[in-house]
Amino acid sequence: MQKQLTIRLQPAKANDQLAVKEAIAATQGIKPDAITGFQLLKKSIDARGRQVMINLTLNAFIHEPFHPAAPEKFEFKDVTHAPKSVIIIGAGPAGLFAALKLIESGIKPILLERGKDVKSRRRDLAALNKEGIIHPDSNYCFGEGGAGTYSDGKLYTRSNKRGNINRILALFCHFGAPENILSDAHPHIGTNKLPQIITAMREQIIACGGQVHFEHKLTDIITENNKIKKLITANGNSFSADAYLLATGHSARDIFELLHNNNILIEAKPFALGVRAEHPQALIDSIQYHCNSRSEHLPPASYSLVEQVNDKGVFSFCMCPGGIIAPASTNKDELVVNGWSPSKRNNPYANSGMVVQVTHEDAAAALKHLKLPADHPLLFMYFQQMVERKAYTAGGGQFKAPAQRLVDFCEKKVTGSLPANSYIPGLNSTDLYDVLPGFIAHTLRDGFRKFGKKMKGYYSNEAVIVATESRTSSPVRIPRDAEKGHHPQLSNLYPCGEGAGYAGGIVSAAMDGERVADWVRTNLIIS
Ligand SMILES: Cc1cc2nc3c(=O)[nH]c(=O)nc-3n(C[C@H](O)[C@H](O)[C@H](O)COP(=O)(O)OP(=O)(O)OC[C@H]3O[C@@H](n4cnc5c(N)ncnc54)[C@H](O)[C@@H]3O)c2cc1C
Repeated sequence: MQKQLTIRLQPAKANDQLAVKEAIAATQGIKPDAITGFQLLKKSIDARGRQVMINLTLNAFIHEPFHPAAPEKFEFKDVTHAPKSVIIIGAGPAGLFAALKLIESGIKPILLERGKDVKSRRRDLAALNKEGIIHPDSNYCFGEGGAGTYSDGKLYTRSNKRGNINRILALFCHFGAPENILSDAHPHIGTNKLPQIITAMREQIIACGGQVHFEHKLTDIITENNKIKKLITANGNSFSADAYLLATGHSARDIFELLHNNNILIEAKPFALGVRAEHPQALIDSIQYHCNSRSEHLPPASYSLVEQVNDKGVFSFCMCPGGIIAPASTNKDELVVNGWSPSKRNNPYANSGMVVQVTHEDAAAALKHLKLPADHPLLFMYFQQMVERKAYTAGGGQFKAPAQRLVDFCEKKVTGSLPANSYIPGLNSTDLYDVLPGFIAHTLRDGFRKFGKKMKGYYSNEAVIVATESRTSSPVRIPRDAEKGHHPQLSNLYPCGEGAGYAGGIVSAAMDGERVADWVRTNLIIS
């Protein structure tokens, strides 16, 4: 017999196979040796009480041989001579998962990627961190694997209505991700493991007859009769296919400008902007796990905070336990920070974006010198750019970042000496009220005070805040037909992923890639 059940154990016991068997047996009133094995379906941490507990949902095999369910299988077709081909611009999660889905449907994907392959990209990240030199097409946002590759690799998403999350996780496992991502309530992969997975995906695409062209930046779109006729890349090559899937991410400002300048409809999309806060991981562990030091059976603790302050949402974003703050800029005079962590999350710091919602009116007021209407399609992009430039200048150049201790910021004191921190290019003590727009700074200040009441110890001068966290989501939406997925003006253009405004995060971008690939397949088969 097989039985699905949930048990609740202390962390040390949850990691001990025998203790788990004993707990299962106790719930069934049988002896532990009647349990031939069990498969973990879901694992979550409950840290609400003083004693942290682990909830395990399991499929137990009782009095029958243990046959764990086999991993999901995928069938990728040979598309070398496929009658239909699709150009995908951007090899981030949206583009890569779209390519794999098209191959499953017998359609040939041709990927154009402005950046380098995932391995070569690492050298450009080292130059950025250590020498302050940015490569405009190869950085934390651009290059094979997209923005999520050198990240924490968190695979948690709330957008479960947009697609099949389990299928995406199973595909990650198929290409080499550890199987615990299938059962962890908050799965993550880690910066050290993601590049191999991305490489395996690319190798699969090429083995099936798909194409991947690195250092091919889309620079022009030629249209005719409400359709794309061909694409031109920066190196002078041109490409055409049956359909075009645009998955260039939230940082491809040149693409937003290209569309806007060619009168291809795009819309301003509100987003959120703020700072990255970094605390000692030990402090976050002690707050979340109610202890002096974390048990070896528990992972570094995370948090998720949200408040309504001054009629605005202020919230934590992309929290990285045991992580590093990284320069996620894409241009030489703009400073953007984000966070990543390795699979073990074993750095001594915990960082998270702390951001404030920005409305059309906020952005238009901050840019009043430009006299833009509140619905200008590039309004939020210009706003983002303005703050990033201020942050760059305030940091003192070479991607040093302006920073302040958290309580000093709230009490409006300039910090004398900044704490030890993870940001490799270096921090520069600055009054962040000179960098952030007033409504952001004041909302963050009040938000931090409220968060300190929710999480005792969070409001601490051991924490440092670093500007600016500005690429939280796309500042633009590229519209598409709700039924057929194509752009309202161009019937063979399919906006996709985070840059088009339909995803926020690795898994939701991957799901959107699959969704758009399905639309493309349906439309190409019918036409
Ligand atoms: C440092 C960092 C950490 C992150 N951590 C996480 C995390 O832990 N979990 C999570 O869910 N999300 C994380 N994110 C966000 C996540 O990476 C994105 O939500 C996700 O990658 C979006 O996928 P996408 O495919 O839509 O776009 P992207 O990943 O942005 O991919 C777009 C691709 O298009 C390419 N491109 C752009 N312009 C052109 C052009 N003109 N021609 C050709 N190619 C072009 C880019 O080089 C890029 O490879 C992180 C982001 C960063 C920067």
